[in-house]
Amino acid sequence: MNQTLERLLDVRRRIATAAAEAGRPAGSVGLVAVSKTFDADAIRPVLEEGHRIFGENRVQEAQGKWPALRGKFPDIELHLIGPLQSNKAKDAVALFDVIETVDRDKIAVELAKEIGKKGKAPRLYVQVNTGLEEQKAGIGPRETAAFVERCRTVHGLAIEGLMCIPPFEDYPGPHFALLQKLAGECGLEKLSMGMSGDFEKAIPFGATSVRVGSAIFGSR
Ligand SMILES: *Cc1c(COP(=O)(O)O)cnc(C)c1O
Repeated sequence: MNQTLERLLDVRRRIATAAAEAGRPAGSVGLVAVSKTFDADAIRPVLEEGHRIFGENRVQEAQGKWPALRGKFPDIELHLIGPLQSNKAKDAVALFDVIETVDRDKIAVELAKEIGKKGKAPRLYVQVNTGLEEQKAGIGPRETAAFVERCRTVHGLAIEGLMCIPPFEDYPGPHFALLQKLAGECGLEKLSMGMSGDFEKAIPFGATSVRVGSAIFGSR
């Protein structure tokens, strides 16, 4: 079997085990296969196996490979997991099914405008900078509830959940716990958290989707 597929099956087994250990129903944790930097030839076996949910961090890179793959696999669900510039909002709304990185009013305004024009709305997550890292995108934890409320009432956007990327050097548990608490305060049930190095730790804290790249596709 293709090595990528072996790793995909292993990741699925580990998700199922972590969910069972956390007392959560099988299938309550979705898997976003993060295919950034990998080309269509690397992705195709995963599509042929039946997996349909993928994540990309750059709009332009995604535009270069996904339209053709969609021609053959029309039910692909594509997530934008990287920072979004406002001049890319139009392309992002056109291409992605889920945008996980809404983190400021300027982006919310642009997304609302494009959604109105196209009559097509991606599902949206607010990215929270749980570690308050300067170089990282995301709204601060203290601003999250008010921002989610503004998305709803001022910008007219339906927010589905929250997303975070814990600081690389920290133990991730407290960050996952914080995201779970903030989601509760906002009345949100969807939590995108956990990557190759820590997805099993995110599951007891309620992750409803994990974003796994290198553990499936290999190192970048
Ligand atoms: C690259 C990336 C991932 C996947 O990272 P791995 O460590 O390769 O699993 C997940 N989330 C975001 C936001 C990313 O940019």
